[in-house]
Amino acid sequence: MNVLVTGGAGYIGSHTVVELINARHQVIVVDDLSNARIDVLDRIEEICGRRPEFYQMDCADKNRLQQVFIHHRIDAVIHFAGFKAVGESVKKPLAYYRNNLDSTMTLLEVMEEFGCRKLVFSSSATVYGPDNPHPYKESMPAVCSASPYGWTKVMIERILKDYATAHPNFCAVLLRYFNPIGAHVSGLLGDDPNGIPNNLMPYIGRVAGGKLERLTIFGGDYPTPDGTCQRDYLHVVDLAIGHLKALEYAESNHGAEAINLGTGKGTSVLELVYAFQKVSGIQVPYVIGPRREGDLPAFWADAEKAKRLLGWEAMYTVEDMCRSTWNFVRKNK
Ligand code: UDP
Repeated sequence: MNVLVTGGAGYIGSHTVVELINARHQVIVVDDLSNARIDVLDRIEEICGRRPEFYQMDCADKNRLQQVFIHHRIDAVIHFAGFKAVGESVKKPLAYYRNNLDSTMTLLEVMEEFGCRKLVFSSSATVYGPDNPHPYKESMPAVCSASPYGWTKVMIERILKDYATAHPNFCAVLLRYFNPIGAHVSGLLGDDPNGIPNNLMPYIGRVAGGKLERLTIFGGDYPTPDGTCQRDYLHVVDLAIGHLKALEYAESNHGAEAINLGTGKGTSVLELVYAFQKVSGIQVPYVIGPRREGDLPAFWADAEKAKRLLGWEAMYTVEDMCRSTWNFVRKNK
């Protein structure tokens, strides 16, 4: 298939591009490089022996997107492009709504114009909001979020459902990610955010690599076994493979289907720190600080639907996730 990957130079996008190329798909990447680096493409080529077609552009630029569809007969789209920093979205809500909604609607209009009927969308567990009990199931109401970033996911899911209702041949798979971490086994691709990381695993990586002094654990008095928050961490390579399974699903189905991608297991912040120390042999100094606003104590996925509909299950362990992160940190000092 000719697969267009928006945001394909980013953390999850680049790992998915590798899996797509390895599965012999023709991959066309669109990325404005606002939160990714051009050398990711060299690294993908080094891993796969093939380079994806690349267009540096904003996918809300309709004229240029139409040109991409004219040059390539796009069979399916995986849509990662979007702003993703939760805290920043609270400070810049308009930028988040404008960018994330505009790019999706422009993409849908162009897909419609060119008769492209398969879309895999990067959604998030954040759409379950604070009121659902965990494990989260897709049948629960997923209609609110704690941040403008999360609301863009809720709104885009709604748009895709309405669009699929109006276009019975269309298929959208809304993949609700839990907490992707880890890196490619080569150490060439990984999560390397600009500035001080907001997310836990890249922060641990910077501390272990000597770039930051210590980790602050946000809250040690949650109602969890060790007092720190629990999340469903999954390996980014497992997540990437989930996108290939979703593409296969979209080939023979219609409608908009929300599917969790998680392991179904909760891991606490402290458990993750200990696992990282064990596999790396490096001490990660930490202090317990105050809670971070908006954090939920614990949640993880009910992963049954992904197994049933996609035949997908996470394969990698928390130790694998830590080992690959450490390998990436060491190779990219
Ligand atoms: N966390 C932390 N220190 C950090 C970053 C994150 O203790 O410097 C905790 C955070 O409170 C949450 C977990 O790590 O319980 C995962 O946070 P992350 O931002 O990676 O993902 P989220 O679940 O918020 O999307």
